[in-house]
Amino acid sequence: EAKTSGRDAVRFFDPAMQAVLVVRMMLESNLRVALAQNQFKLYYQVQVDSKGGLIGAEALLRWIHPDRGFISPAEFIPLAEETGLIVPIGYWVLETACAQLKKWEEKQDTRDLTLAVNVSAKQFQQIDFVQKLRGMLERSAINPTRLKIELTESTILDNVDSTTAKMHELRELGIAFSMDDFGTGYSSLAYLQRLPLNQLKIDRSFVRDISDDENDATIVRAIISLGVNLGLNVIAEGVETQAQRSFLIEHDCYAFQGYLFSKPLPLEGFQELLQASRQTATQG
Ligand code: C2E
Ligand code: MG
Ligand code: MG
Ligand code: MG
Repeated sequence: EAKTSGRDAVRFFDPAMQAVLVVRMMLESNLRVALAQNQFKLYYQVQVDSKGGLIGAEALLRWIHPDRGFISPAEFIPLAEETGLIVPIGYWVLETACAQLKKWEEKQDTRDLTLAVNVSAKQFQQIDFVQKLRGMLERSAINPTRLKIELTESTILDNVDSTTAKMHELRELGIAFSMDDFGTGYSSLAYLQRLPLNQLKIDRSFVRDISDDENDATIVRAIISLGVNLGLNVIAEGVETQAQRSFLIEHDCYAFQGYLFSKPLPLEGFQELLQASRQTATQG
């Protein structure tokens, strides 16, 4: 660190380092502006069953910067987490998701859709998270069983007791939980059994080479049987090919999300896809 020794202190004046810091600070202040000026948008990626039927969607955050255009969540979520801005951003995501669910509930053909929302550790660990979310559910008057929260293993394991307690409270309200990016963390069987989860979501890094990489294939099979044995539903993310889909079905995973079906789409595009799929379903 710069303050620990005279030699390192020189780094303070390293122009490359300086540039990195400036870019960071700009991004941070831009993030604040983004929130204030509504530059965020939710995209929706479909989740389908083994017959191609639509079971729901995952809401994915997009930042559409007036000059820079699209900024990927991979770029700004880590900074939003570090600065704590993920908390207000995350509440915006949840509010928007609830409002959308309300609209879907009001229409016959979208009433049964579920919407999964990513919640980061920093937000879930806010002391008043349950209270805030309960307030949102009441105000939006949605059926809470349509809302699913995606948490990662590290979010849960960071603080197992308080996280588990919050999950139980939210489950009582009807909210479902999916463990995102499953397989990349360090969950033990002992924890998994105690958690009030509904779903395991297989990380796409394992799905990618499922057909050629024996290790990945083994991990995926193990995750599926783990899920089945724990009575959880299992979904695979990042499904891009028919071969991956077939492998998954062969090994008892019947829910998918990935480019094979659709990329994340803006609301309008998602709703068009939805209509098209309902039409095919009624015709066929
Ligand atoms: P995630 O929750 O694991 O989301 C899945 C990511 O995989 C998404 O990236 C999605 O666009 C991408 N994806 C889906 N299908 C495929 C596929 O077939 N192939 C490939 N190559 N990629 C696929 P995205 O939208 O860039 O989001 C990245 C991550 O950012 C998310 O990973 C999530 O951790 C985080 N994120 C996104 N939206 C939010 C949010 O509203 N709140 C928080 N806290 N995090 C979010
Ligand atoms: Mg996710
Ligand atoms: Mg994921
Ligand atoms: Mg992932």
